[in-house]
Amino acid sequence: MEKKKLEAVKALVRNIPDFPVKGIQFKDLTTAFKDPEALTVMADAMEELYKDRGVTKVVGIESRGFIGGSLLAACLGAGFVPIRKPGKLPAETIKKSYEKEYGTDTIEIHSDAITADDVVVIHDDLLATGGTMLAAYELVKSMNPKMIYINFLCGLTGLNGRAVLPADIEVTTLFDFDGV
Ligand code: AMP
Repeated sequence: MEKKKLEAVKALVRNIPDFPVKGIQFKDLTTAFKDPEALTVMADAMEELYKDRGVTKVVGIESRGFIGGSLLAACLGAGFVPIRKPGKLPAETIKKSYEKEYGTDTIEIHSDAITADDVVVIHDDLLATGGTMLAAYELVKSMNPKMIYINFLCGLTGLNGRAVLPADIEVTTLFDFDGV
């Protein structure tokens, strides 16, 4: 994937100051998702990263992680598994609470969603503090899949979220924003 194409996608991301609370520079990816070429560039870039890894499941984190996660799953011929906020999944779940950039939250996954034969990519739209992804990783890890990869569409390098994620796990982003 040419870096130029991903830079063009990055340029489409809209910055919303003080959303949802004062002090947050919210990266609004909907302005990239609505652009047909940008959506294809993101799908192709993710596919390129994971196409030879034998991925069987993509786990997407509610809610913005459902968009890129579904795209990636379809590109790889893998299944899609949602991680959701409490009370949304209908069958038996396992849960994890965590801190995020603005507040505390809990996430859940269906207990039968991942098996020991799975090779998993956990996907979210954006890496901020890394708290959400760490909680998702711990949920997935507790289900003992063969392998776990972590992918984000983008990261905020100033928050150093990579440092809270396990050092031995491959973490990729398509593009990054300086600052927080
Ligand atoms: P964190 O747990 O701090 O890494 O937060 C990651 C989650 O919160 C992701 O699901 C993002 O969608 C969302 N998020 C946190 N900070 C931002 C931000 N500055 N812009 C857009 N989304 C954000």
